[in-house]
Amino acid sequence: MVSVYTMNDGLTIPKVGFGTFKAADGEEAYQSTLEAIKAGYRHIDTAAYYRNEESVGRAIKDSGIARDELFVTTKLWNDAHSYEGAKAALAASLERLQLDYVDLYLIHWPNPKAIRDHWQEGNAEAWRYMEEAQKAGLIRSIGVSNFLVHHLEALAKTAKVTPAVNQIRLAPGCYQEEVVDYCRKHDIVIEAWGPLGQGEIFSNADMKALAEKYDKTVAQVALAWSLYEGFLPLPKSVHKDRIKENLDFTDIQLSAEDADAIRHLAGATPAPDPDTKDF
Ligand code: NAD
Repeated sequence: MVSVYTMNDGLTIPKVGFGTFKAADGEEAYQSTLEAIKAGYRHIDTAAYYRNEESVGRAIKDSGIARDELFVTTKLWNDAHSYEGAKAALAASLERLQLDYVDLYLIHWPNPKAIRDHWQEGNAEAWRYMEEAQKAGLIRSIGVSNFLVHHLEALAKTAKVTPAVNQIRLAPGCYQEEVVDYCRKHDIVIEAWGPLGQGEIFSNADMKALAEKYDKTVAQVALAWSLYEGFLPLPKSVHKDRIKENLDFTDIQLSAEDADAIRHLAGATPAPDPDTKDF
C-alpha cells in the first residue's frame, strides 16, 4: 500500500499514480486500468488529450472500488484555455469518465501554439473557471502541468488558489531544478511524468548496474529515486506483470550517492520546451 502526500489545499494524494498516456481507448486502456486498480493503484492519471477517458472511466466503475477510495486526475487540453472553454472541457471529461467529480484537474500545457501571444490570459481565464468548479464540487484539487517558473508566476498574478500540483517531466537524468525548487518553496506537489524516461532508461548501463546492486529492476530503482526526491511518479504500462512491478519498490533505500548519480544520469532526453512546442 502506498502512502499519501498532503497538498497545499489540505487534501491528500496517493504517492504513486498509474499513467495512461498512449493506452489505446478500448480494451487496452480498460484492461490496464482495471489491472492497475486490482494491483493496488488508487491514483489514475488520464487526460482529454489521451482520448481514453471513456475506457478509463469504465474500468473505474467496474473495479468495484468505492469512488472515494480512488484518486482520478484528468487534464484540460490546448483547445480550452478560456472560461467557457474550460467549463465545456471539464463537463465533457466528466461525462466520458462517468464521474460526478475529479480529484484533480490540470491545465495540461501552459503555452499552446494557438494562443502563444496571449497564453497568460488563457491560463488565467481557464483557472478562474477551475476555481469556481472547485467550489461547486466538480473538482477537488486544481493544478497545472508542464508549467515553468515564469508560467507559475504569471498565473499567480490573478489566481485566488495556488496550484496544488505541477506535473512535469522528471526522470533519471532529467531533473528540472529551477521549477522543482520553485514548487518546493510554494508547497506545490511535484508529479513526475515519464518517470521511466518513457522507456529510454531500460538500456542505460548505469541504471542496469544500480538495479543489480539493489537486486531490483531498472523501473523499480527509477521509481524509488522519484520518491526519494519527493516527487510523485506516474509509471505507465499496459502489461499486468509490469503494472505490478511498478508498485513494488517502496522497500528500496537508495544511498544519497546513488540518488545523486541518478539525478545526473547522462544521455537523458530533456523536458520539452512548453514555449516552443508545436501544439
Ligand atoms: P513512462 O516513463 O511511464 O514509460 C512508459 C513506458 O516504459 C511503457 O510504454 C513501457 O514501454 C515501459 N515500461 C513501463 N514499465 C516497465 C517495466 N516495469 N519494465 C520495462 N519497461 C517498462 O512514460 P509515460 O507513459 O510517457 O509517462 C507516464 C505517465 O505520465 C503517462 O502515462 C501519463 O499519464 C503522464 N504523462 C503526462 C504528460 C504531460 O504532459 N502532463 C506527458 C507524458 C506523460
